[in-house]
Amino acid sequence: MACVSNALIVGGGIAGLSAALALSRVGVHCDVVEIADSPLGASLGLSGRATDALVELGVYDECRTTSTVFSHDQMPTSLRDTAGQLLSPGPKRPEWLGIRDSIGVYRPVFLEILADHARRLGVTIERGVTAEAIEDRSDASRVKFSNGEQFCYDLVIGADGIRSRTRGLVFPDAPTPTYAGQLSIRWMAPGPAVPDEGFYLGPMGRLGFYYLPQGMVYVPAVVPLSEWKRFTDGEVHALFTRLLDSYTARAIVELRKRLAPDAILIARPFEWILMPEPWHRGRTILIGDAAHATTANMGQGGGMAIEDAVVLAQCIRDASTLADAFDNFMRRRFARVRTVVESSVELSKLDLAKAPPKEYVGYLAAALGALGQPY
Ligand SMILES: Cc1cc2nc3c(=O)[nH]c(=O)nc-3n(C[C@H](O)[C@H](O)[C@H](O)COP(=O)(O)OP(=O)(O)OC[C@H]3O[C@@H](n4cnc5c(N)ncnc54)[C@H](O)[C@@H]3O)c2cc1C
Repeated sequence: MACVSNALIVGGGIAGLSAALALSRVGVHCDVVEIADSPLGASLGLSGRATDALVELGVYDECRTTSTVFSHDQMPTSLRDTAGQLLSPGPKRPEWLGIRDSIGVYRPVFLEILADHARRLGVTIERGVTAEAIEDRSDASRVKFSNGEQFCYDLVIGADGIRSRTRGLVFPDAPTPTYAGQLSIRWMAPGPAVPDEGFYLGPMGRLGFYYLPQGMVYVPAVVPLSEWKRFTDGEVHALFTRLLDSYTARAIVELRKRLAPDAILIARPFEWILMPEPWHRGRTILIGDAAHATTANMGQGGGMAIEDAVVLAQCIRDASTLADAFDNFMRRRFARVRTVVESSVELSKLDLAKAPPKEYVGYLAAALGALGQPY
């Protein structure tokens, strides 16, 4: 029997919904509060051990049927120049990544699959609400919500992303995110697949693309930007247009034709944070980006969030006290997650220093290889 009977999860993103599902499967009743009215998002690549975690959550097969599936030799990781000439075939996939096919899943679809499975196990998901105060008592945590309600929980999970309000409430002394000198822009381009999927490296920045079965091409781009500033939608559009125009590769020219003036572009600074151990205080614990967010160079942040959720549920199931469960969780998660955060930040530095593609790809391959151990 689990060492807690109910949990509040703040944040209904990847970490929060995965935790709700994983904990429900071990008999813990979960309430989720999510501040946003609907999920915004692009695609998410999930590979390696993240797919083990999806199997454990019972959603891998369903995700696979709605995703682009990358079998062992089909990962779109090749690197080309502005004209489309091949610079590198990309990192050789570590053997362990071949256990199961990797997937590229449209984030809103993925979140709906998680939410649907969680609801079927009795999870409540309330949108437009957040936790405003968390009072830790010896027998329970009393949570005051933004809608005026108050409830007690055995466990509170902060899964509210890189700007976590829960982190601020429970760890007022926590570090704040560090800007990594790069801006990411993501676009879901309408229309059919475009040949020569993979990454492209140009003087203004890097971009890549792959097709999703929802009839869209996912285009993530990264440009250097020494000082972070908030851009208007128009400025983001102008910058992204200039980036696409700086390429003569046939594939990018084709994508450029699809960029409408009102295209939705998601611009975010590349930032990172690694909460020092422990990520828990009283009955509250942080998981996912709330505890450890990083630049997207390894494409592993979402995978780590899902692993966190699965491991936390295992620890809650197996321990006789919450304190033991938290200790075991930290023992299993900290070093693995630190590898991802630090390696991804290092990759940003290599990118900004315009390191030769061979050096960048070699570093990426080694960093991915280090994640082969089971979580
Ligand atoms: C450009 C880019 C590309 C990426 N590509 C990949 C990839 O291919 N593969 C991969 O594995 N990872 C990728 N990542 C990383 C991945 O997006 C994150 O690691 C992942 O989203 C973390 O999940 P999370 O649930 O912890 O946080 P989030 O996804 O940020 O979810 C947090 C949720 O909490 C909600 N919330 C926020 N504040 C509150 C509040 N006060 N109360 C209630 N709810 C709140 C938010 O609305 C959100 O729904 C990428 C990141 C970026 C920036």
